[in-house]
Amino acid sequence: MSEEIKKIYVRYDEVALKRGSRGHFEKKLKKNISRLVGFSQGHIQRIRGRLVINIPDGHDGRETIERLKRCFGLAKISPVITAKPDLEDIIQTAISLAKKHVALGHKTFKIEARRANKQFPIRSPEINVEAGGRVLEAVPELTVQVRKPDFVIRIEIFAKDVYLFSEDIAGPGGLPTGVGGRAMLLLSGGIDSPVAGWLTQKRGLHVDAVYFHSFPFTGEKTKEKVKDLASQLGRSSPDPFRLAVCSVTKIQKALQETVPEAYWTIMLRRFMVRIADKIAQEHRHFALVTGDALGQVASQTLENLDCLEGVASRMIFRPLIGFDKKEVIEIARKIDTYDLSIQPYPDCCTLFAPSHPVTRGRRELCEKLERELDVDGLVAESIAGKELHKHTNKEGMIRVENAAEVILEQDSPEQSETNDQAPEKNEANKVNSDESKLDVTLAVKSDSGNQDEAS
Ligand code: ATP
Ligand code: MG
Repeated sequence: MSEEIKKIYVRYDEVALKRGSRGHFEKKLKKNISRLVGFSQGHIQRIRGRLVINIPDGHDGRETIERLKRCFGLAKISPVITAKPDLEDIIQTAISLAKKHVALGHKTFKIEARRANKQFPIRSPEINVEAGGRVLEAVPELTVQVRKPDFVIRIEIFAKDVYLFSEDIAGPGGLPTGVGGRAMLLLSGGIDSPVAGWLTQKRGLHVDAVYFHSFPFTGEKTKEKVKDLASQLGRSSPDPFRLAVCSVTKIQKALQETVPEAYWTIMLRRFMVRIADKIAQEHRHFALVTGDALGQVASQTLENLDCLEGVASRMIFRPLIGFDKKEVIEIARKIDTYDLSIQPYPDCCTLFAPSHPVTRGRRELCEKLERELDVDGLVAESIAGKELHKHTNKEGMIRVENAAEVILEQDSPEQSETNDQAPEKNEANKVNSDESKLDVTLAVKSDSGNQDEAS
């Protein structure tokens, strides 16, 4: 409907938010919404398991809804009209809403009232009957239909305000981004990895990404395509979405000189995982994410995936492991990455693809072949030459020069949130933050000597 939207009512999946940390999740959700829609938390009000967003002057309600559709944790989004907690005012508001539907050609309706404020003197079934009857009188074009009406007028009664709405727009569901920590996605220009990244974001993790290119063999166009994919994921990210771009050209050349052709791709993947792991460590990401699946192509075997084990010091998530290609494409279309992914620019792996890649790779052989290579040197060189980009909803994708600034900027909101939590939550966070200190200490130690993960 085209009327000006002043308020939006959002609901989240209550079951997902229980687990004893609901307050923390709701706070995070409020903060995430504020960052995605671009106005302050002061405009977002929490009432009994729901949020009401007051659109400030100068902001467009429909545009705000488009942004909310990318906010993980939201189940349903509805533009609302407010009435006073008074039956006559509720009825008049319902009538005006019904008239708008008639103008759209709708013919059948029902009313569903919900009394969150039990002090309100009239019970929900009676409100349904009373308001339904008065709407019929005032708008004779309409008839009541309980099953599958053209529209439903929902009336939610709280102590101060009553909200009426008839449009339910689906949110992406999942958990508020960031409640679960951070993960580093290995983002290629293909169809799978953006979907893997999106599914990870959906489970409440903040995601950043690393992309490997073989400049000058893969050109600017491929890089631009990956940056566009990163931006697409970044549009769902309340915190800036980082993209590191690392060159693997030198590594590929070294592999071509020393490694049997059938092992080129697998060995390159080991380097990718190793480099991503180091960058993840630097930026304190707890897990790596890839778009690996099983059996979609001949080389996606359990043995080949096993060749990537023991290389990274953190977990590797493979959210697509149980998906077939059709299911992945369906999600890629839904999240608007499919059209970007199918642009035909070459990937570094396709360019250096062996004619007969190994289908049952052996991990011990990979390790043996690596002894012939300066693994640490090649990894360090690729990382030292990395380019950093970040996507924010305000500025889009921009190049970032100072890596240290990138880390600090992303850490600060998490810390300020810890400070304003209830004491019992602080206790839980204290354990987490102690653990993360330990993590950093270990990281420093491993950087200054023990390099066994890289050998
Ligand atoms: P995708 O569609 O994500 O490229 P794919 O089906 O083509 O996946 P592979 O090319 O075998 O599968 O790659 C498996 C995973 O390895 C990718 O999903 C991605 O996570 C990672 N990967 C491959 N190539 C790159 C790259 N150039 N940069 C970053 N990650 C990569
Ligand atoms: Mg690929």
